[in-house]
Amino acid sequence: MQSRRRLPVLRREAVAATVPVIVGSLLAMAGPAVAAGPTGASGVGDPYFPLAGNGGYHVSHYGLTLGYDPGSRHLTGKAVLTARATQRLTRLDLDFKGLKITGLTVDHVKAVYKRDGQELVVTPARPLRKGQSFRVTVTYNGKPGPVTDPDGSLDGWIPTDDGAFVAGEPQGAMTWFPANNHPLDKSSYDFTITVPKGRTAVANGVLLGQSTRAGKTTFRWRQTEPMAAYLATATVGKFQVKQYTTRSGLKVYDAVDPREAAAAAPVLKKLPSVLEWESKLFGPYPYRAAGSLVDHAPNVGYALETQSRPVYDRAPDLSTLVHESAHQWFGDSVSLTSWKDIWLNEGFATYAEWLYTEQHGGDSAQKSFDALYARPATDGLWAFPPGDPGSGANIFDTPVYARGAMTLHALRTAVGDRAFFRILRAWAAQHRYGNGTTAQFERLAERESGKDLGGLFHTWLYAQGKPSTP
Ligand code: ZN
Repeated sequence: MQSRRRLPVLRREAVAATVPVIVGSLLAMAGPAVAAGPTGASGVGDPYFPLAGNGGYHVSHYGLTLGYDPGSRHLTGKAVLTARATQRLTRLDLDFKGLKITGLTVDHVKAVYKRDGQELVVTPARPLRKGQSFRVTVTYNGKPGPVTDPDGSLDGWIPTDDGAFVAGEPQGAMTWFPANNHPLDKSSYDFTITVPKGRTAVANGVLLGQSTRAGKTTFRWRQTEPMAAYLATATVGKFQVKQYTTRSGLKVYDAVDPREAAAAAPVLKKLPSVLEWESKLFGPYPYRAAGSLVDHAPNVGYALETQSRPVYDRAPDLSTLVHESAHQWFGDSVSLTSWKDIWLNEGFATYAEWLYTEQHGGDSAQKSFDALYARPATDGLWAFPPGDPGSGANIFDTPVYARGAMTLHALRTAVGDRAFFRILRAWAAQHRYGNGTTAQFERLAERESGKDLGGLFHTWLYAQGKPSTP
């Protein structure tokens, strides 16, 4: 199969950043500072997605019980969120779009709610104290469908001819479960998914068990390590399944659409060696489970690094597998604090592809860098600086991926290999299962290298146009 990008096919060519967005402070995230008064904020303050996530509470666990019928495309759901208030709350928001709600309780007591676009505004019968643990239970059903992102791509619950391709970056999680839908809020997950016998439902983490009764099969999945809502999946289809444990004890679960099986097999076979190679470079693989989910979803146009088990819209090529695997460290374990910092995900995963090529008999990273640098100043690659994409419409455009990777190469050139790989490992270790910002990465790089890197980061991450020296 031809080499292809993970980028949405619908994507426009990169255009110059439009109106600069005034950035609210994301530094004092997750609650008190963003919320005014005793009502939780409707967003965490993300400049590109102002309604994403919510202030005033943290979700520690999602228990999702779903039933999906691919024939009628009907979904039934029950979501149990275990959360803790980070401030006194008379009211709180969840992100949830579309599906009909049939019941909502807070600590088993019926709560008043209203819906306003993607905001599900909940008023518990009794206010929640600061620090109080509470449980929100929402039952719902309907025919889920995706949202259309600012870049024109589909995201969320995307029906296919035999099930659904489920991916949520950056917004789509709210199309199939109520969530605190921002990478700042990370949680463990349990999934119980029932589908007609003969279909397979694949989520994140470890398969706890499956059972078939009365023509239906229920799959139980558990994602123990913290996960951002956008990385959750519950992909359904007719899949060929393969399970094995690697030499290092990782539980691998591959689910492949038979139409993609022949093309996928030689690539999926390499997953253990790719993860091992990445572990040497980036530090220990963050999860106990791994695998690949290869669907046949021609209308999607991208793959996603769903946690522990990336989802592909078709058989991936090797560099796509390397890319989505690298995201397990950069994006999934170390998550964004703001979507504006997306180069921390995409630049890193793209640079991992260059490194893989370099260390497996292909072009050096320098050569990949040079080929890009040779592009004329008018090329879309230079349309905007990767550290400041300008809007949510640009976060998956070429400058983020390619110039983001070039930034890391420029850093490597400046500090040398030893310091560079130490920086990558320290980044993965210090923010493991958490979040990071570009400013934190810059400080870490300066600390580890003992160099002033302000000029380098300014040139590669923030300066408009093609940098005048490579
Ligand atoms: Zn990526």
